[in-house]
Amino acid sequence: MGAAKVYIETYGCQMNEYDSEIVRRVLTGNGYDFTDTPEDADIIFLNTCAVRANAQRKVLQRIDLFKKLKGRKQGLLIGVLGCVAQNLKTELFNSGIGVDVVAGPDSYRTLPELLRRVQETKETRCATTLSVEETYSDLFPAQQSGKVNAWVAVMRGCDNFCSFCVVPYTRGRERCRAPDNIIEEITALAAKGYKQVTLLGQNVNSYKYEGFTFAQLISAVSRIEGIRRIRFTSPHPKDFPDDLLEVVADNDKVCKHIHLPLQSGNTRILQMMNRTYSKEEYLALAHRMRERIGNLALTTDIIVGFPTETREEYEDTLDVMRQVEFDAAFMFKYSERAGTAAAQKYPDDISAAEKTDRITRLVDLQRSISLERNQRHLNETYDVLVEGTARKPDQLRGRNDENKIVVFPDNGAQAGDFVNVRIEEVTPNTLIGVAVQPVT
Ligand code: SF4
Repeated sequence: MGAAKVYIETYGCQMNEYDSEIVRRVLTGNGYDFTDTPEDADIIFLNTCAVRANAQRKVLQRIDLFKKLKGRKQGLLIGVLGCVAQNLKTELFNSGIGVDVVAGPDSYRTLPELLRRVQETKETRCATTLSVEETYSDLFPAQQSGKVNAWVAVMRGCDNFCSFCVVPYTRGRERCRAPDNIIEEITALAAKGYKQVTLLGQNVNSYKYEGFTFAQLISAVSRIEGIRRIRFTSPHPKDFPDDLLEVVADNDKVCKHIHLPLQSGNTRILQMMNRTYSKEEYLALAHRMRERIGNLALTTDIIVGFPTETREEYEDTLDVMRQVEFDAAFMFKYSERAGTAAAQKYPDDISAAEKTDRITRLVDLQRSISLERNQRHLNETYDVLVEGTARKPDQLRGRNDENKIVVFPDNGAQAGDFVNVRIEEVTPNTLIGVAVQPVT
């Protein structure tokens, strides 16, 4: 009999994508194979996201679908990993939806043992102890997709406890990896041909290791031969020190794009969210960034319809959007998450219709701002890192330094190549151009 085959499906943020590769590394090291088709698998894992109610619902529907495969394949095991696993724990067994294994984000090393015991005893197993130390620093991910960008988690967990967020409960306290260990991982990625690296952390600018700061870490990464672009996500506005701004401004390898989650433009709502900055402090930081880095792209996350948010307070969010002119924004309706401070303290009292109205206006405003921001790129030429083929036939797709999607006619470049593209047309989401220089 050959090795058992594992199929893994990943939801949510890049940290989950990274973690799926850690799981792959743990299991391949223990004699498991992987497959891309659930029908071919002996074990199906869903690496889940609990940040929004929708994401959690989708995962539960997906498990229900996989349960049908159990009837056709004896011994098939279904496992839930990630934030839903950590959040719901053994509740996932009670619901009778066919889950055999539950493992939270700090328990992936135990997976071979959990699987062995489930197979031996035919009983369900759950491992959801949160660790204050686990960073999986010895387990460099088994593979990264596409050989264009490599995600590298430099820290895990979060200590911020924003009142709407489950992450501190599902991923535990902040822990940082040693800089030497991160440099070793990125040096190995560069040797495999990766040219861009994105440093990941729930609160990435809080990175600190025995006095070594995030700005120093970025500078060290920039000295690795072969790495041409460095990105990072997501910083918290409360911890954006000047030395980090300087390194983004002055280091050519650091992309001129900062994702700076706003969440709300109203100070009272920000306080209720426990974001620890005011509207004015956020605006001052954004302006300082734009002043220091001329060609900076700023993007953000926004929640509308947080409990008790009045129409006037929502207008403050629109006001910040107009003042900062974000290049792009991820915009969400507030979704109550069980166990968070907001769920315990504040009733979800903004109607669904009102939330829809607020987000529709927000999206419309952002689309017009994004279009205006993109028009500044017309007739400019950018180094574009090619990611692959675009949806349109005979077109390639990549990103410029500012993380904007650039589409241009196929000139034979491959994923991972840099191409100089002159921009001739723009939409709110895309820059459209032509290659003006051969592949480098
Ligand atoms: S900073 Fe706030 S929103 Fe981000 S992961 Fe931490 S608690 Fe959640």
